[in-house]
Amino acid sequence: MVTILDGKKCSEKRLELVKEQIEESGLHPHLATVIVGSDPASQMYVRMKHRACERVGIGSVGIELPADTTTEKVLEKVRLLNADPEIDGILVQLPLPNQVDAELVIAAVSPAKDVDGFHPENLGLLFSGRPRFTPCTPTGIMTLLSEYRIPLSGARAVVAGRSIDVGRPMAALLINADATVTVCHSRTKDLPEELKRADILVSAIGRAHFIQPGMVKPGAVVIDVGINQLNGKLVGDVDFENVREITSAITPVPGGVGPMTIATLMENTFRAAKVRACGSAR
Ligand code: NAP
Repeated sequence: MVTILDGKKCSEKRLELVKEQIEESGLHPHLATVIVGSDPASQMYVRMKHRACERVGIGSVGIELPADTTTEKVLEKVRLLNADPEIDGILVQLPLPNQVDAELVIAAVSPAKDVDGFHPENLGLLFSGRPRFTPCTPTGIMTLLSEYRIPLSGARAVVAGRSIDVGRPMAALLINADATVTVCHSRTKDLPEELKRADILVSAIGRAHFIQPGMVKPGAVVIDVGINQLNGKLVGDVDFENVREITSAITPVPGGVGPMTIATLMENTFRAAKVRACGSAR
């Protein structure tokens, strides 16, 4: 019997929980988003984040900059938000246009307001096993795995993809949870063989239906991070219909990892507000 890991349902539960916790805390957390340009997908993600804020009682401000904004102008905005006592969390929507130095911008966000968890200090803490803010997508996956009581200690986990926003932090979170982790990428030799060793397979490569039944170990847990278009439909990296029966549990696309990312952003923002208000996330 295959378990569908229902990210939509799990995220609803987490959003309700964070809403209650915010009400009880008496805090009024605020998130600022910064978007440069008018990429429709980025604009949609930012809108979804603002809607989630509204739902859980987080105030939000959106800063929209034209597509030709310079790095210096973006940095200026980030510095203003860093200094703004009303703002608890800052999210710079990626990708940024080519002329903007994304690394500089990410590093300019105050680590204490870095609710996306991409600042080198926060990534360093994650990799040293003392996480503070951790990137929302892999953290949401960890929450989903925990919700469905998927055992991680000693499990062989394979992460396909080594990006800084998904693959690498995913690997670090799994290591911190005592899994034995392999990270694969475009230069991996015999990728299907590597993938087939996984008890837990996380695919974050961004190729529609790349993961086929022959690449999955029977009984594996498969987490599909990919968001791809195929014949006008939104699909994951995993050929869901053909792979699902081999697995013990699998995330759908849509309705799997995506909603967990947003719920985690809300949790991170509340946590940032608590730390700023009381010096502790408890
Ligand atoms: P990315 O920065 O483009 O990274 C893709 C990774 O996949 C790279 O490490 C690349 O290897 C590897 N790769 C690409 N083609 C490969 C192949 N044929 N064989 C093996 N490895 C391959 O992408 P990302 O930001 O990590 O995102 C990955 C996917 O997840 C995208 O579809 C994105 O839209 C989606 N996503 C979803 C969420 C969500 O909330 N659901 C959040 C973030 C991203 P190299 O490093 O060698 O180039």
